[in-house]
Amino acid sequence: MQIGESSFPRRTTRQIMVGDVAVGGGAPVSVQSMTITKTADVDATLQQIYALAAAGCDIVRCTCNEPEAAEGLARIIPRSPVPIVADIHHQYRRALEALEAGVHCLRLNPGNIRKPEHIKAVAMEAKDRGVPIRIGVNGGSLDPALYEKYGGKVTAEAMVESAKIEIGYFEEVGFEDIKISVKASSVPLMIEAYRMLADEVDFPLHLGVTEAGPPPGGLIKATAGIATLLAEGIGDTIRYSLTADPVQEAKAGRQLLESLGLRERKNVDLIACPSCGRAEIDVIAVAEQAMAAFGEREIPLQVAVMGCVVNGPGEARDADIGIAAGNKRGHLFVRGTNVAVVPEDEMVGALVEWAEFIHEHGIDKAMEKADLKAAKEAAEADRAALLEEQGEDANASEQVVELIRKGRS
Ligand code: SF4
Repeated sequence: MQIGESSFPRRTTRQIMVGDVAVGGGAPVSVQSMTITKTADVDATLQQIYALAAAGCDIVRCTCNEPEAAEGLARIIPRSPVPIVADIHHQYRRALEALEAGVHCLRLNPGNIRKPEHIKAVAMEAKDRGVPIRIGVNGGSLDPALYEKYGGKVTAEAMVESAKIEIGYFEEVGFEDIKISVKASSVPLMIEAYRMLADEVDFPLHLGVTEAGPPPGGLIKATAGIATLLAEGIGDTIRYSLTADPVQEAKAGRQLLESLGLRERKNVDLIACPSCGRAEIDVIAVAEQAMAAFGEREIPLQVAVMGCVVNGPGEARDADIGIAAGNKRGHLFVRGTNVAVVPEDEMVGALVEWAEFIHEHGIDKAMEKADLKAAKEAAEADRAALLEEQGEDANASEQVVELIRKGRS
């Protein structure tokens, strides 16, 4: 298997279209996020939608919580680069207005729009307009009747039942253009609920850990829940719910899918060694400088920052381009082969330059322009000098091994 590929068989589902983005039915897993502006503030919301789209977001949700928000949607949708979902709570009339505004999908929360006639009225209107609906069950706003039924607790069964009741209303009016989410802030609970739901329905599923909180804890929780399910083949579209700039949600979603091999790489995949006694540079600082230098550039390569030339080019031999430090010099390597040597303070600039060249012309052309003999000699000289200075065991591992052995005897 190649880097960037996935070996996870995907669950078979129906497919729906959210605007021009296919969800389920073998379509690539899509990334979603949600604006945090007032939807009535059209310019601010559009600015955020553009930032989200640039960060890799495929579908954006906006709240439609007041009449002015529905009017805002009517102005936003024609100018949005990505499909827009209207988030509806409590007032089914906002759903009808959002449909009138031309929204590409609705999200209804069955926990707070409970009158069957209201739900069916929205489904009929959505059906007439060919607009899908996400049944967005949320552990924190479960229908009180279900909460009671399941012993005053939010359980996976209760969340799945809530979704199935809503599906039932939709089916009564012949509406099946559905995707479903059963989010909870507890990771084990949401995993259980999605697994259960995936066994019972073949609608596409929207994954998320609700109210995951600020990074880094929120990122870890969301990743634990979403990645576990994706690795089981469950999930067709995802959203990180972070207490942070939504651009971070989009980037995290995109990165997760790329790292699981479920989406093609869009930006640089920066890998870096954890540093150790051999490091010739401050690896953390140089990796951060490199991340900042690549920024949002769409260079879909794996780029390595390695602390030493003794082991760096070998440890990161799969990287398309990398840099390893040695004797105040930066050694550039392409797929493990040394290609150039630059002064240490020019390392990051050279890394970006070579990455751009490879992106534009390919690895073979990069090899052609390299002085391979000079680069190899320089790397070998610095490697030998470092080994001479630090010895074979720069991390003093053998002393620790001795201690372990002594403890045994
Ligand atoms: S041996 Fe070199 S490349 Fe490997 S972790 Fe240590 S400093 Fe980084």
